[in-house]
Amino acid sequence: MPIVFDNRYARKFPEITTSQPIKPDGKANLLWLNEPLWVELSAGDKPPAKLADWLGGLEPWPGAEPVAQKYAGHQFGHFNPYLGDGRGLLLGQVVVGEKLQDIHVKGAGPTPYSRGADGRAVLRSSVRELLASEAFYALGVPTTRALALVSTEGKIQRERLEPGAILARTAATHVRFGHFEHCFHRNLEDTMKHLWQDTIETVWPQLANASVAEGFAQVVKRTAEMIAGWQAYGFIHGVMNTDNMSIAGETFDFGPYAFLDNYKPEKIFNHTDAGGRYGFFQQPGIGLWNLKRLAQALSTMVEPDELQSALDNYETQLRQAYLNLMTKRLGLSAVPDEQKMALIGGWLSLLEVNNADYQLSFRDLIDSLESGAPKGLLKQSGESWWKEYQSAINGYTDIDVMKQVNPWVIVRTHHAQRVIEASEAGDNSLLEEYTQALMNPFDDALSDSVWARPPKPNEQVSQLSCSS
Ligand code: AMP
Ligand code: MG
Ligand code: MG
Repeated sequence: MPIVFDNRYARKFPEITTSQPIKPDGKANLLWLNEPLWVELSAGDKPPAKLADWLGGLEPWPGAEPVAQKYAGHQFGHFNPYLGDGRGLLLGQVVVGEKLQDIHVKGAGPTPYSRGADGRAVLRSSVRELLASEAFYALGVPTTRALALVSTEGKIQRERLEPGAILARTAATHVRFGHFEHCFHRNLEDTMKHLWQDTIETVWPQLANASVAEGFAQVVKRTAEMIAGWQAYGFIHGVMNTDNMSIAGETFDFGPYAFLDNYKPEKIFNHTDAGGRYGFFQQPGIGLWNLKRLAQALSTMVEPDELQSALDNYETQLRQAYLNLMTKRLGLSAVPDEQKMALIGGWLSLLEVNNADYQLSFRDLIDSLESGAPKGLLKQSGESWWKEYQSAINGYTDIDVMKQVNPWVIVRTHHAQRVIEASEAGDNSLLEEYTQALMNPFDDALSDSVWARPPKPNEQVSQLSCSS
């Protein structure tokens, strides 16, 4: 069956949407398609030959009703009422089993919310979003997905002239914290009520009859779990503004993100974030700060006290979710909870002191367990931690579990850079290869792959351009 649209959002919320088609920027070529995702959305239908024209705006996608969404948000701590989809369009919602999924394109041309910017996206940032979303999906961290990438013909001016692209992504919703901040700021009380109800029931049908406080508690919990995933996998989002926070608790709007290579967690990757507001260790606290902004916006619908208990649970939920993930990553299921945190802390210090690779060190640990002798980092300088660890696990090992959660391949900035340069030069084979690896990150066959290799000192990229 072809993909079936049911564009509930556009139908129900005309006062916070602007209908407009994708504005083409020359011809469009399909550079990459997420075939398994396509199959899910279309119940097995073949991708149509017209897909590139649909995504590039050269022909309308039958059934889609593209709209730009209006929202506001707190950017770097300051409220900005003028936000909205400045270059993205929600094409519509598609029916997948009992649920709806959004299909959205980024780089679709200027909208009323572009604030003078060009409405376009460069190939570089589109590839980076594609890589991270598929990597996170494979790791089991909640995320939007990349559906397809098309190139466009025009050149885009950023720090340099760059090729442009349009990325299609799917998400449980594109409703952000900032949507409710907009309704609050503009006194759109009815819209807020309907939008809250509609979003909660679209994302979590089982909460269709839940109170606002119950729905909010779910948003808090999912946000906590998402950020726990970031912390466990060494991910720095980079721009945790409230307009980049999804109500569904999916990792969203990938900008100048990075995964840690060497465990130097105080690193900040976004050069416009000089104050370090969005550094690695700030993320859990910023998540809570953002949830408080959401609670404030919701305060016209519900007494603030009713939301407080959900906010009070956030830290415990995040800690528990982090502990669960790290228990799997380090194979600690037999270790009492009190002892786990100490072992995790010891492990992280060991990595930090030795400037060790955050991802591959976990594989060294698996190697050590399999051979019964410390390997890699553990052999060089981790003997005392290794002894403590062995006595804590007391002969009980979770090697199978550890192998299912510790990737060989993760998004590394230097690999992404190489893939981008190849794609910019018209060769998409590396993009295909790297995404295949990221989609199967635990496959032992990848242990010797180039994609598993951390950067050599001269390959390290320490700061990334924020432009996209
Ligand atoms: P971001 O930092 O990518 O989350 O974007 C923040 C806001 O700026 C959103 O409202 C975007 O739609 C808008 N925006 C970012 N880049 C562009 C662009 N090139 N053209 C128009 N709007 C943009
Ligand atoms: Mg309208
Ligand atoms: Mg954004």
